Amino acid sequence: MTVPFSNPLSIPVLGFCAYSGTGKTTLLKQLIPELNRRGLRLAVIKHAHHNFDVDIPGKDSYEMRKAGARQMLVASHVRWALMTEDAVDGDPQLPHLLAQIEADKVDMVLVEGFKKLELPKIELHRAAHGKPFIYEHDDNILAVACCDDTQLPATMARLDLNNVGAIADYVMDYVNHWQPAMAHRPQTTVAPAQTNQTLTVAQGVQAIVDCVNPLTEIQSLPLQQLAGKVLAQDAISPVNVPQQTNSAMDGFALAYDANIENYQIVGEVLAGHNFGRPLLATEAVRIMTGAPVPAGADTVIPKELTTEQAGQLQCEPGVIVGQHVRLAGEDIRQGATALSAGQRLGAAEIGLLASLGFANANVYRRPVIAVFSTGDEVSQPGEPLKPDCIYDANRFTISAMATALGCEVVDLGIIEDSEAALTQALTQAATADVIISSGGVSVGNADYIKTVLAKIGRINFWRINMRPGRPLAFGQINDALFFGLPGNPVAVMVSFLQFVQPALRKLAGEHQWQAPLLPAISDQPLSSRIGRSEFLRGVYHLGHDGRLHVSTTGPQGSGMLNSMVKANCLIVIDDADDAIAPGQIVYIQPFADLL
Ligand code: AMP
Ligand code: MG
Repeated sequence: MTVPFSNPLSIPVLGFCAYSGTGKTTLLKQLIPELNRRGLRLAVIKHAHHNFDVDIPGKDSYEMRKAGARQMLVASHVRWALMTEDAVDGDPQLPHLLAQIEADKVDMVLVEGFKKLELPKIELHRAAHGKPFIYEHDDNILAVACCDDTQLPATMARLDLNNVGAIADYVMDYVNHWQPAMAHRPQTTVAPAQTNQTLTVAQGVQAIVDCVNPLTEIQSLPLQQLAGKVLAQDAISPVNVPQQTNSAMDGFALAYDANIENYQIVGEVLAGHNFGRPLLATEAVRIMTGAPVPAGADTVIPKELTTEQAGQLQCEPGVIVGQHVRLAGEDIRQGATALSAGQRLGAAEIGLLASLGFANANVYRRPVIAVFSTGDEVSQPGEPLKPDCIYDANRFTISAMATALGCEVVDLGIIEDSEAALTQALTQAATADVIISSGGVSVGNADYIKTVLAKIGRINFWRINMRPGRPLAFGQINDALFFGLPGNPVAVMVSFLQFVQPALRKLAGEHQWQAPLLPAISDQPLSSRIGRSEFLRGVYHLGHDGRLHVSTTGPQGSGMLNSMVKANCLIVIDDADDAIAPGQIVYIQPFADLL
């Protein structure tokens, strides 16, 4: 029986397993220098079956450990060793051991032993020993390294146990094709939400998005007003782009034939003009970038790869027929769908519409969002701050995010914590498509949101298993959707990005938007809890190893807007994950892609 295994590292792990006496260590002692020669930096984890010790009685480190130090780290200028007293029942846990490896110092971990783990492994086998095969009951065996006398099914990869070079080839190939496991990627299938329970982020998003009916009103707008709008109809190309086969270089157009030594230069074509007649086999025309390639010609030779003498042209060798020619319709063919309905229009999409000759496009009308803040302590910026009060930040982060999503924002100001004031504000707001408030949704508030909403609409108060942003209210007042976001400013932004954003995008006509997630290597330990999603403010950068790395912005209080200012992404630790060790892969949502 095998035991599930998930690799917590951002580098490949490969096991070598066999019955004892087959020669695992002998092979590894030869394989390690061979892989080093090929540039691979290695870590090795070895499973020992007995109560081993690496220290020697009499050494200081040994004596201090025996005196009761649970961890003993000895270091010199050439190496260090950490010894940990960690008695467990059964086998040591490989994921825990792997998390001790410094993944930025090595490219791969070789594991000797741990035969029962569902770890990708190479099996070592010697027929002479008369032992059974491991691969027969373990799907994680990638290949069997054996000798000539061993019979294997044709489907099982075979390696020669005595050919270290070939085994090294196999390992290099494994490393080059290895990809980090997606085990920690937040789930895409979601169990439906039950009422009154604590929801996962994915369940909350799903329940909200299911309630959204996309807007149907369409308007035709000119190119200048399309930025941020959502296309309501497919844009079918009325033309070929490019319209004519044209040159991608300044040079000469001709029908290339390696047997022709001299072409006669018969004229010149500029962009926006036409040569007027087909070229003969031995003719060439001088041509500018973007100018139509005359009929008969198939190739453009850059000017610097030619010599001209007395009206005759010679080409340097190495010409490929068809080079530097842009074919008519190669970007977009006439009649092809250039953009699909549901596409949000940015600079590139608007440019594409213009290049097809469209002066207008049919788009959905903008969603209207009404925003207000609650709380007697919340004050209007610009006015003197009363004692014990804070300035309203949330109305402005919400308005800015909604505007960035192409919405029209109606600002209802700060509503005092009284039933009458709230009833009036919410009734007035219900003509909008979406109403968003902040504050007053956590337990123990002097808040009237719950009472008022229960009277004039339908509302759910959810606890979302996330940090920050645990309380969330979601419901409807007439046809308007209502979001009651938490009060803390970071919680407001995180909940908007995770819950309000997908709803606004669906409302606006976008299809199936999902927050982008990229894997990055965590440069520090991160703490979380199984069952809770953690949204840390992070800074990602490209490391010297060519991979994305991320660290937090520092203190993560849910009231600290400064952490959002310093960050360029959210680090998402999924509900399936506990603590993250340095070097382990986490997922990030870059702000540039998020809003
Ligand atoms: P509440 O959910 O109303 O208990 O608010 C939680 C925290 O967020 C409290 O410290 C509030 O003072 C703060 N808060 C509430 N509304 C705002 C706002 N509009 N701007 C900034 N902070 C707020
Ligand atoms: Mg409040």
